[in-house]
Amino acid sequence: MSLLNLPEVRGRLTYDAPLGHMTWFGVGGPAEVLFKPADKQDLIDFVKNCPKDVPITILGVASNLIIRDGGIPGVVIRLGRDCGEIKVNGTTVTAGAAALDMNVALTAARKSVAGLEFLSGIPGTVGGAVRMNAGAYGKETKDALVSAEILFRDGTVKNMTAADMGLSYRHNSLPEDVIFLSCTLQGEKGETPDIEKKMNEIKIKRAESQPIRSKTGGSTFANPAVPEGADPKDVQKAWQLIDAAGCRGFKIGGAQMSEMHANFMLNTGTATAADLERLGEKVREKVYAQSQIMLRWEIKRIGVPLETDADIAEWMKKGNS
Ligand SMILES: Cc1cc2nc3c(=O)[nH]c(=O)nc-3n(C[C@H](O)[C@H](O)[C@H](O)COP(=O)(O)OP(=O)(O)OC[C@H]3O[C@@H](n4cnc5c(N)ncnc54)[C@H](O)[C@@H]3O)c2cc1C
Repeated sequence: MSLLNLPEVRGRLTYDAPLGHMTWFGVGGPAEVLFKPADKQDLIDFVKNCPKDVPITILGVASNLIIRDGGIPGVVIRLGRDCGEIKVNGTTVTAGAAALDMNVALTAARKSVAGLEFLSGIPGTVGGAVRMNAGAYGKETKDALVSAEILFRDGTVKNMTAADMGLSYRHNSLPEDVIFLSCTLQGEKGETPDIEKKMNEIKIKRAESQPIRSKTGGSTFANPAVPEGADPKDVQKAWQLIDAAGCRGFKIGGAQMSEMHANFMLNTGTATAADLERLGEKVREKVYAQSQIMLRWEIKRIGVPLETDADIAEWMKKGNS
């Protein structure tokens, strides 16, 4: 991997750039190189000319991420305001990938476009929403998504329809290294006061049930799939399984499963990314022992751990404990 041969850019390249403060959890190691493109074309040119052996990772606002303590090798891209323009045409909304879900919902509401209220409570970007097929209160991104403009690792840009992306519950089938540049969402004609009322109801519901002011990553685990023919009400949600396994409030180091919402993991202030990941794995183990169901991480974990077992053994040999 040759980080010395990175293409020239109009934006900013920073070597060994801290990332922890950019994440909702407030922890994580640095990017080997952080790239903030000046605009969309700068990003496209960079990806096209970047040596193919250099890994590229794209971040939204890191509301669904644990970045491991050893950081992220290669180039990490963080989009700026120039990549977040929101345009409304009739009941169609087109948003740059960096636009916040909340701003998309607010802009739509102001233009009397209904149907995108669900985005108002999701704290990510629309790029992150398309990658995660984010959803809330009975609606998912795929229900509103018409198409997205996508940058591939070879530098080509294609428009793809939602149907081509293989979207399912918190999943997008496209390769991990594609970059969503913008997306087009379809709403419907509504009345601004009604839309704002709905958004306000969502806000109240969230504040009552989720630790939204804490250092968290949202739902830690996806809810188990509902088997064909089964009534969804009969299938336990992730938080119920975690509760049944006695893990509400369970703590490892500075990481804790929330007392308020058992499926939300928290950094209580001193957690490392390793604490968060260890806690998640322990919870999966306990849930499996109790219910024979293996929970699937919804939070994405990226980057490399800081220590290996060999590092720890070495450290202990030196008289530490
Ligand atoms: C308090 C709280 C509440 C939450 N509630 C919900 C909820 O109700 N529903 C829900 O679905 N989620 C929820 N989340 C999780 C999170 O907000 C969503 O998954 C969101 O869509 C992530 O967007 P992001 O911009 O933060 O992406 P990040 O966390 O930065 O990244 C997530 C993934 O998306 C990829 N990605 C980001 N941008 C792009 C892009 N432009 N192109 C390609 N890939 C990209 C990243 O590489 C990564 O793999 C919540 C999180 C928190 C902290």
